[in-house]
Amino acid sequence: MTMDVNDLDLKTELIQICHQLVALGYLIGTYGNASARVPGGLIITPSRVDYAHLTPEDMVTVSDEGEILAGTRLPSSELEVHRQIYLRRPDVNAVLHTHSLHATALSCCHDTIPVIVEEQSQVVGGEIYCTRYIPAGRHEDLGEETARALGTSNAVLIANHGVVNCGRSLDEALFVCLVVERIAQMRLLTGAGAVVPIPPEHVASERDRFLHRYGTAADREDAEPAEAQSG
Ligand SMILES: [Zn+2]
Repeated sequence: MTMDVNDLDLKTELIQICHQLVALGYLIGTYGNASARVPGGLIITPSRVDYAHLTPEDMVTVSDEGEILAGTRLPSSELEVHRQIYLRRPDVNAVLHTHSLHATALSCCHDTIPVIVEEQSQVVGGEIYCTRYIPAGRHEDLGEETARALGTSNAVLIANHGVVNCGRSLDEALFVCLVVERIAQMRLLTGAGAVVPIPPEHVASERDRFLHRYGTAADREDAEPAEAQSG
């Protein structure tokens, strides 16, 4: 398979996703970055270009090995976060890193967000871990630590910094951003009391249902029999 280092549609989609994240208030200034997988590598937003002025020509194509293949700009300084996640997670095709308010606030606690609502089971796939603190500028360490802490989940907090959300597509990764930011807000709202996490076996079955059975006839196996419901 030859690599399309100039996938114009994907670059345009990346810019549209960035504009949506700016509108949501998740991307501020030039903080944050977005990427999508292409065969043999990834396309990522550039370093230090205002999102309002991004054009497809600003995007940078980088190989799996970290070599710049196309583009005149420097790739985002957090390129390693994206590259390491794609290397470890073949199921991930899009990575969005933001400094959204509530998730970033929680990243300052260095705590795991337990599974507190159903959509976390379904969309994130489990707990949201937090990295250990990596001082600014140590890009390789940040990439490795973030990919490690992500594990098999679709979201991870970067300690005292922000959040990374993943998906099988850019649209899905954007949805993960929305869900994770709400989860983080709920976690802060419930922060004063001890939360009761959803038991692990139900997290797994919720995720499985979302992936394989949601909206299909098979999903009705889980439904309450109508005659069993009391008025
Ligand atoms: Zn950042």
